[in-house]
Amino acid sequence: MPMDNVEPDAHQQASPQNTPDVFRTDEGAQDGLAKCARCGATEISLNVATGNLRCGFCRFEWATENAIEAFNLNGDISGLTGILVGSGSSDIVPSTEEILTFKCSACGAEVVIDTNNSTQARCHWCRNTLSMNQQVANGAVPDMILPFRVEKSTAVEKIASFVGKRKFFAHPKFRAEFNAENVMGVYLPYMVVDINAHARLTGEGEHQTRSYTVKVGDKEQQRYDADVYNVVREFDIQVNDLTVESSSDRLDQNTSQNSNNIINTIMPFDVENSVRYDSNYLAGFTSERRDSNLDQLSPIAHTQAGDITRHRVNDSLTFYDRGVRWTAEEVDVRGQRWVSAYLPVWLYSYQQRNSSGKSFLHYVAVNARTGETMGSIPLNQSKLLLVAGAVQLVGTVIGLVLVVVGF
Ligand SMILES: [Zn+2]
Ligand SMILES: [Zn+2]
Repeated sequence: MPMDNVEPDAHQQASPQNTPDVFRTDEGAQDGLAKCARCGATEISLNVATGNLRCGFCRFEWATENAIEAFNLNGDISGLTGILVGSGSSDIVPSTEEILTFKCSACGAEVVIDTNNSTQARCHWCRNTLSMNQQVANGAVPDMILPFRVEKSTAVEKIASFVGKRKFFAHPKFRAEFNAENVMGVYLPYMVVDINAHARLTGEGEHQTRSYTVKVGDKEQQRYDADVYNVVREFDIQVNDLTVESSSDRLDQNTSQNSNNIINTIMPFDVENSVRYDSNYLAGFTSERRDSNLDQLSPIAHTQAGDITRHRVNDSLTFYDRGVRWTAEEVDVRGQRWVSAYLPVWLYSYQQRNSSGKSFLHYVAVNARTGETMGSIPLNQSKLLLVAGAVQLVGTVIGLVLVVVGF
């Protein structure tokens, strides 16, 4: 067997390092009243059209620092070693209170923030908004946030058009209750991962040398000759901005109960445009808290890195026109960097209950950065059967016609 070229491994094996190095991402972040620098109001929210935060009173706008630059994440991944983790991506401490009390600095009242649902609350006495931007150990405050860019009106149009195209097959109850205005803006928790790895793939590749036909009985058969090669590919690989879901509810891909795989189809997000977390971006939207740690998410990220690795070598395998079968795949992750992020999605959800009382969550999701839309809707089974029957009937007719023409 001829041997394929093997590139020498120039790298030293990095010593395994399992304790993450944490870098702070909430430095200078302040809890409590966030005020407009021009007029002092605390009525602050995202202006979706510009991506800036805007004062609700004087309309003054300002931008938040780009997170990738602020955390210095633009650096060369090939130099990355060990495990580097943003402080908002550290392991969640289960004992940490989910209800936190803040003193309103405007009137002195004690205000409660339920970090399970939001990191903002309004003081019930003076109506000022109190924000929590400093990270606590329960994982409620992520490292960065990607603001909504698709307006609600656009999301409503996209959802209405998605459902409109499928209305014929939709369940009558769903059709009657459908109202695209009920869409909600949600920030979903993700981990954004950079990986520096060294990969070694070993396998066999076939290159065709001749193709010919032989007579077997009174039939002709196609044959080919091929050389079989040992194929080895060894290289360094850097994966930038891999996104991994970090809510255990979303990670549950059991398609008999939910349609979580939909979210994967509206990827990717331009995570490089994320900004430093500021809970004012949450005003008017809901959010979901991260509840998964690195231990649970690492295998998922590493599997994805493996898929990318296999894909990456395809260009160098064109000589093996009959394919390559890998027998061993080693991906040695030498460095990884984890940053937690909130990514924006418009969601129209619909809980379908069947006669046995079981429920299934349907939804239509819009990527609130790109407008990419995907969803599932409850179907009208009898209409589906009718159409399936019609297709079969047409098929049978065509089959008959072909038989007639053939003779
Ligand atoms: Zn103002
Ligand atoms: Zn107050």
